[in-house]
Amino acid sequence: MNYVFDNDLHIHSKLSLCSNDPEQNCERILQYAKDNNLKTICITDHFWDEAVEGASDWYAKQNFGHILAAKPIPQAEGVRFLFGCETELNKHLTLGLSKEKYDLFDFIVIPTTHFHMKGYTLTDEETASTESRAKAWVKRFEAVLNMDLPFHKVGIAHLTCSLIAPTQEEYLEVLKLIPQEELIRLFSRAAKLGVGIEINADDMRFSEDEAEVILRIYKIAKECGCKFYCGSDAHHPKSLERAKKIFEKAITLLGLTEDDKFII
Ligand SMILES: [Zn+2]
Ligand SMILES: [Zn+2]
Repeated sequence: MNYVFDNDLHIHSKLSLCSNDPEQNCERILQYAKDNNLKTICITDHFWDEAVEGASDWYAKQNFGHILAAKPIPQAEGVRFLFGCETELNKHLTLGLSKEKYDLFDFIVIPTTHFHMKGYTLTDEETASTESRAKAWVKRFEAVLNMDLPFHKVGIAHLTCSLIAPTQEEYLEVLKLIPQEELIRLFSRAAKLGVGIEINADDMRFSEDEAEVILRIYKIAKECGCKFYCGSDAHHPKSLERAKKIFEKAITLLGLTEDDKFII
């Protein structure tokens, strides 16, 4: 059976400083679930745990008290509306979430590809070239797999995010430079650990020419046995409105089935 788009485990609310959109509230997000027959959705605002050193100024404002304001999360019949977060991995490979807080979240999104945060997520050396960015992609993904995490409720966000490089051309180049054998090695481990791999709506808005380079990553993940969840990464209602169409196209292109679904 084909993968049914019935989940969205990466959604920002107005609490994320890069949203700050009063329209992007939990009620609106719940309405999106109802409109699209989604069974499981999760709010994942940007978060750096104040118990961990190493926040940037931007992350320091998005501490636990800040994202907790989303609670109580509204519920509706037939929809599980979960509470999660999108934390961060800084250039020292420190995760912005302490073990003590794992239980406070239903789902934890870990982004390894926020390469746009100059000097914070990558060292100057790592940003120097497409080759060094490709190496950083591997290193950061591997660092997460090496952590002691509750992988059954962890998702790796937007692995083919365009923030990986400053221009579209360089971005595609970085993806091409990640060796096949490294991808197989990483995704085989990811599959074994049971971590979710995100199909991110923004990542899936590519042109026909770009499709092969971007989809290669996920096709390898699928062959290695990884499980996938959908993540609109919406910061505004307009992203919620277009999500279904994007996911259904990606699901078809990747030939995903219900067996490929990450279940939380
Ligand atoms: Zn992100
Ligand atoms: Zn996000």
